[in-house]
Amino acid sequence: MPQAAHSYLEGRVRLCVGDLTEQAVDAIVNAANSTLLGGGGVDGAIHRRGGPAILDACRALRASAWPNGLPTGQVALTEGGRLPARYVIHAVGPIHGRHGGKEAALLAACYGNALSLAAGLVLRTIAFPAISTGVYGYPPDEAAVVVSTTLREQLPRHAAIDEVRLVFFDSGQLEIFAANQRF
Ligand code: ADP
Repeated sequence: MPQAAHSYLEGRVRLCVGDLTEQAVDAIVNAANSTLLGGGGVDGAIHRRGGPAILDACRALRASAWPNGLPTGQVALTEGGRLPARYVIHAVGPIHGRHGGKEAALLAACYGNALSLAAGLVLRTIAFPAISTGVYGYPPDEAAVVVSTTLREQLPRHAAIDEVRLVFFDSGQLEIFAANQRF
């Protein structure tokens, strides 16, 4: 498989083409919206496949820690329900063009905060979708620069994390990432 070649930072970061909801990892990251109550794209797929326990856990978060919703760049943890992944880390990506130039910092915060949360739970494997590059309109070539730079800078701090898997829905998206990454 050609994507086997797409590995960086001594094999700790791997790119693959596939469905995020099928990843058998300790945690998958959801490209959520701030309501935490479900949406389209990856978010919809996670709730469909993971079952109602995830939405129940999201409602509980809204009733406790995040009554006004999860702010952009922040992350929150729920169980994984019926997913192969044990946990879902919900992250709210920036909407491109709506944050007055802070989009890159907010996208970096999603990845950095998800890594910190995973490391705090001593999780070893974590899979991300290409946050914000769908409905939220972030150009995938620019996202590749932000995401790869963030992982390069932050992964050395989290020695317990063995694998960060970046999951792309199609090979075109993976190739854009590979061509623009700054690992
Ligand atoms: P956002 O609102 O943050 O842009 P989206 O869910 O619209 O999030 O899209 C984020 C990225 O995830 C897009 O590149 C989209 O093609 C991709 N995607 C959608 N569904 C899946 C899935 N099941 N597995 C992996 N990637 C997916």
